[in-house]
Amino acid sequence: MKILMLARNPNLYSHKRLVEAATAKGHSLDIVNTLRCFMNITSHRPEVYYNTQKLTGYDAVIPRIGASITFYGLAVLRQFEMMGVYPLNESVGIGRSRDKLRSMQLLARDGIGLPVTAFAHDPKQTEEVLKVVGGPPVVIKLLEGTQGIGVVLADTQRSAKSVVEAFRGAHVNILVQEFIKEAGGEDIRAFVVGGKVVAAMRRTGAEGEFRSNLHRGGSAKPIKITAEERSTAVRAAKAMGLNVCGVDMLRSNHGPVVMEVNSSPGLEGVEKATGINVAGLIIDFIERHATPGKVSTRTR
Ligand code: ADP
Ligand code: GLU
Repeated sequence: MKILMLARNPNLYSHKRLVEAATAKGHSLDIVNTLRCFMNITSHRPEVYYNTQKLTGYDAVIPRIGASITFYGLAVLRQFEMMGVYPLNESVGIGRSRDKLRSMQLLARDGIGLPVTAFAHDPKQTEEVLKVVGGPPVVIKLLEGTQGIGVVLADTQRSAKSVVEAFRGAHVNILVQEFIKEAGGEDIRAFVVGGKVVAAMRRTGAEGEFRSNLHRGGSAKPIKITAEERSTAVRAAKAMGLNVCGVDMLRSNHGPVVMEVNSSPGLEGVEKATGINVAGLIIDFIERHATPGKVSTRTR
């Protein structure tokens, strides 16, 4: 097969591993910088150009579109979908995952466990919003945050109100969420490929830190997850319409709750923690599914 990867940095661990895994299985994998792709979007025969070269003959495309270039990256990916190139994850699913609110609404619709979460526009409703999620301690999150930046724990009504006001003053959208104390600063990432959890890790926050992000100094270990956690992760991937994703969950005393579904999950943490060849499993999945024209974006 001839595979194309849309990624900005070919030297990232995840990207190098996917190239290695594809090559080991006898495929070619070319990396192109998403932002250097251009296209005539109105042509009857959709095409994508990269520098002076027309990108043709690909069986599959692996989108590794960073959050900061979602808009342009999804336009490029849709163009490949219009050409009938099989995408590992479709543009629609990635678009959903980049919007925390939309994701949670979709997960809630499918009855998937979520931390009680409220969203409001008017800071005058702060007290009501705090009440909805059961009062402090609460977690306040920037809607556009990643890697744990913009996630604040407020212990008291007073601090919660001032954090909400500060964010509002900065004209950013926030979510207010019940604090899952019993998670003990740990979360679970289940890595889903093709409707199965292929690897799972437990991430523990640094001493005194409630956020378990590896970028915030957390550490990762393999974990055996429960059947309920496994089915929650699989259902979350399905609700989002993602073939490959990282489902982040907390162990709450009302069962697993999903915090986030990442459509471009990093491979380094999970492969190093578990020793599982996740990149290889992703390439196997593409081998099994990359049939030309098998893209629902073209037909819906
Ligand atoms: P980001 O998308 O920036 O990583 P998350 O929503 O995943 O933000 O939150 C970062 C970390 O904070 C999580 O990995 C988890 O450890 C902790 N956390 C987030 N929400 C809650 C919550 N409601 N209760 C307890 N801990 C939480
Ligand atoms: N860097 C990954 C991305 O492009 C996310 C890392 C993670 O798995 O949290 O979205």
